[in-house]
Amino acid sequence: MTSYLYANIIIEIAHENVDRPFQYKIPPSLDGLLAPGVSVTVPFGKSNRQITGFVIELTNQAEYPPEKLKEVIGTTEAGVNMTTDAIKLAEWMKKNYGGTMIAALKTVLPAKRKFKPKEKKTVRCLVSKTEIQAALTESVNKKQAAKIRILSELLSEEILPYELVTGKLHITAATLNSLKLQGLIAIDIIHYYRNPVKLEAEQNSRPILSQEQQIIVDTVNNEYRAGNRFTYLIRGITGSGKTEVYMGLIENVIALGKQCIVLIPEIALTYQTLLRFYKRFGNRVSVINSTLSSGEKYDQCERAKRGEIDIIIGPRSALFVPFPDLGLIIIDEEHEISYKSEQTPRYHARETAAALAKIKNACLILGSATPSLEAYYRAKNDEYRLFTLENRLSGAVLPEVYIVDLREELKNGNRQIFSIKLQELITARLNSGEQIMLFLNRRGYSSFISCRSCGFVLKCPHCDISLSKHRGGKMLCHYCGYGQSDIKLCPSCNSKYLLGFKAGTQQIEELIHKLWPAAKVLRMDGDTTKTKDSYGEILAAFANGKADILVGTQMIVKGHDFPNVTLVGIIAADLSLNINDFRAGERTFQLLTQAAGRAGRGEKPGEVVIQTYRPDHYSIIHAANQNYPAFYNEEILYRELASYPPAAHMLAVLINAEKESSGWLLGEELLKLFGKTSLTETVNEVVIKAGKLQIIGPVPAPVAKINDVYRFLIFIKHDNYDILVKCKDILEENLLRRRQQNEMTGISIQFDFDPL
Ligand code: ADP
Ligand code: ZN
Ligand code: ZN
Repeated sequence: MTSYLYANIIIEIAHENVDRPFQYKIPPSLDGLLAPGVSVTVPFGKSNRQITGFVIELTNQAEYPPEKLKEVIGTTEAGVNMTTDAIKLAEWMKKNYGGTMIAALKTVLPAKRKFKPKEKKTVRCLVSKTEIQAALTESVNKKQAAKIRILSELLSEEILPYELVTGKLHITAATLNSLKLQGLIAIDIIHYYRNPVKLEAEQNSRPILSQEQQIIVDTVNNEYRAGNRFTYLIRGITGSGKTEVYMGLIENVIALGKQCIVLIPEIALTYQTLLRFYKRFGNRVSVINSTLSSGEKYDQCERAKRGEIDIIIGPRSALFVPFPDLGLIIIDEEHEISYKSEQTPRYHARETAAALAKIKNACLILGSATPSLEAYYRAKNDEYRLFTLENRLSGAVLPEVYIVDLREELKNGNRQIFSIKLQELITARLNSGEQIMLFLNRRGYSSFISCRSCGFVLKCPHCDISLSKHRGGKMLCHYCGYGQSDIKLCPSCNSKYLLGFKAGTQQIEELIHKLWPAAKVLRMDGDTTKTKDSYGEILAAFANGKADILVGTQMIVKGHDFPNVTLVGIIAADLSLNINDFRAGERTFQLLTQAAGRAGRGEKPGEVVIQTYRPDHYSIIHAANQNYPAFYNEEILYRELASYPPAAHMLAVLINAEKESSGWLLGEELLKLFGKTSLTETVNEVVIKAGKLQIIGPVPAPVAKINDVYRFLIFIKHDNYDILVKCKDILEENLLRRRQQNEMTGISIQFDFDPL
C-alpha cells in the first residue's frame, strides 16, 4: 500500500452543516491501515469529542496548513468497512436524491456494525481406535466413570460436539484437560457465519423451457457473453414462467464466476419462492430480509464477500450486499411501491439498481405482470429491451370477469356492499365447496367524495385529481392547493347520496356472517397482521381450507397460490381510483389485474366480479380484459397531457416547520428563487436553459401536520431529470447559507424525486 499523509473523512453526523469531507492527518501508527471505506474514529469540534466516520479518500494534498489538522485516532472496532463501489453508489445516491453523504453511505451499508462470527467447539479424537480402546480398558480398571463415558463415545464417533460432551455426557473441563494432556483429544474452535436458509431439499431437474422462455434466456445470455450490458423488461402475467427465466439467466452468470442479486418485494418473498431457488442452486443461495437479526444480516454480507454464496434474495436493501463480482440484478414485481424508500435518501431500487449495474458492469432484469409506467415507457423508447410472455404455463385459462355498475344497484334498491351478482356467485361457491376471496382495494386516504347515484367524483379543475376532504369540510387539491367548500348535492345529477366510501374489511366480515351464517371467514388487513407471523399464518390457514372466504386489503393479492379459489370479488374498485394521486389509474389497474389473477389458478375456471361506480373507466375495462398495452396507451396520454412522470419528472420538496407561518414563508421564498425576478445568477441560468420548468405550490401536504410539525409541499416539474437535480442543488445551497446564518431553526427540508 502506498502511504499517504491525509485522509478525507465523512463523519457520522447527518446534518447539512457538516455534510462535507473533513481532512485529518494519518499518524504513523495507522500508516497503510487506512483506505477508502474504512470506518475510523476521529476527534471532532471544539471539544474534540470522539466520533466515527468513513474514509472516502486518501491524499498527500493538505487543504489547510498541516499543523492545523487533527489526527485520526484509529480504526473502529465494531464498524463495518465499505467497498469503494459502495462509496461510488452513495455518491450517485446523494447527487440524485439529495440528503447528506453520511445518510447515503449508511443506506448502502446493509449491516451497520460488525458481529463476531459464531463459534462451534468440538472434541476431536487424535489417536487410533486401538489406542482409544487401550485407554478405555485402563479407565475401566481405575473405575474412572467420566473417562469411560467419553472414551466409549469416541470409539464410534471421531468428532463430538462440545455441548454434547459437557451436557449429555456430563464431562468436566478437568477430565477433558487430562485427556488432552494424554494426547488423546484436541478441542477445536470452528468459526462460521449463520445461514438463515434452513432448508433441506433435493435439487430438482429444470423444466424444458417453452419457446417464449428459451428465446429470452438465449438472447440475454448471448448478449451477456458478448460483453453487452442492457436493461431488460419482461412483461408476463403471473404464472407465465418469469421465475424460470430468471433462473436460466442466473445460471449463465454464475457459470461465469459472477454473483446475482434477486429483489422480491418482502410480502411476496415466501417460503415457496425461497425453496424454488434453493432446489435449483442449493446452499449457494441466501436470503436477507427484515426478519433476520442484525447479526444474521452481517453474516450474509460476510458470506457474500467471502464467496460462500452466489445469490442473495431479498427486498430493496438486498441491493447493497457486497458481492465481489456482481454480474446480474433481477427485480421481480418491478412496479411495487415498496421498492421506493420512505427515508432520506428516498431512492428507488429500480434506478439505484441501474446505477449499481453501471458501476459493476452488471446486467439488470425487470419483471412484472403490470410494469410501472416508467419501465414500460423506457422500453417503448428503446432504453430497455422488452420481452413479453403471453401464456400461462400451467394451462390455466384466464377467468371470466363481470363488471357490476353500482349506480344500477342503487337504482334497483340494493344499498348493500354486495351486488346481486356477487351475492349469487358467493352462494353458489359456498354450496359447491369452492373458495372465495373478497378484496377491498383501500389504500392511503380515501377522503374523496363521490356520488353513489351517478358516480360523479369531485376533482380539481386544474390537475384532474380527486379533491380531499379536510377539517372544517373544505375540499382541497394536494397538487396545486386549489380549494372549494364541500358540496351537499351532486352537481351532476342533484342526488343527495354524496358519500365518502366507508366500508372496511371488518364491516364486510360482519355482513357475510349475517347473510351466510354458516360460512367460515378469515380476515386479513392491518389489524389482523400486526404480529410477525400472522400474515403467513392466515394465508396458510386459507390454503389448507380452514375457511371458505378470505376478506382482505391489497395484502391478499400476493404470495400464495390458492388452486381452490374460483371466485374473486372486488368490492369497490373506485377506492383506489379516486385517491388524490396521479398514479391512481395505474394503481387501480395493477391491483385489479393482480386480484383478478387470483381466480382460477387450478383446474377449475374462475370468475371475477368488479364492483364500481365507473364501469366505463379505462383502468377498470382494461384490467377486466387483462390488457396491459391498451391500458398503457391511454394512461400515458394522460401523463403526457398533464406532465406527470414518466412523461416528465417531478421533484417534491417537503418543508417541515414547527411554526406554520415560517413554513409558508420559506415555501414562498424558495419559489422566488425560480421566479422571474430570480435572486441569483445560477438560478437564472438553470431556469433559462431549462425552459418550461413548472412550479406548483407551496401547498399543505396530504398529512398537513404530524406531531405538531407543519408540512408543506412544492412540486417542480420538468422533462429532464438533471434539471431537477440542479434545482435541488440550488435549494440545498440556499438552505445551507440560511442555516449558517442561523435562519432555519425549527425547519427541515426533504426531497422526493418522482414521488410515489
Ligand atoms: P412467474 O414467475 O411468471 O409467476 P413461474 O416461473 O413461477 O412464473 O412459473 C409458473 C409455474 O409454471 C410454476 O409452477 C413453474 O414451475 C411452471 N413452469 C415454468 N416454466 C415451465 C416450463 N418451461 N415447463 C413446465 N413448467 C413450467
Ligand atoms: Zn350524481
Ligand atoms: Zn389542483
